[in-house]
Amino acid sequence: MAKLTFKTDYCKGCGLCVDVCPKDVLRLAPDKINKKGHHPVEAANPDQCIGCGSCAIMCPDSIIKVER
Ligand code: SF4
Ligand code: SF4
Repeated sequence: MAKLTFKTDYCKGCGLCVDVCPKDVLRLAPDKINKKGHHPVEAANPDQCIGCGSCAIMCPDSIIKVER
């Protein structure tokens, strides 16, 4: 299982990473607001992550770090 970390406070909630993930690991946290005023990314199903790195590549702001 890969390890995912997020610079949560800098996420703009665009959802590109959510859409690109092939395993439906990510979501925009419905119950959280970051300091920029957005619902930030979070790992809803971290056990399903295959460490492909697509989310990290897709994110325009380099919010996501994937470690295998
Ligand atoms: S590394 Fe791949 S499987 Fe894991 S959350 Fe990112 S896009 Fe999804
Ligand atoms: S982590 Fe990046 S791609 Fe995903 S919602 Fe936040 S800003 Fe958008």
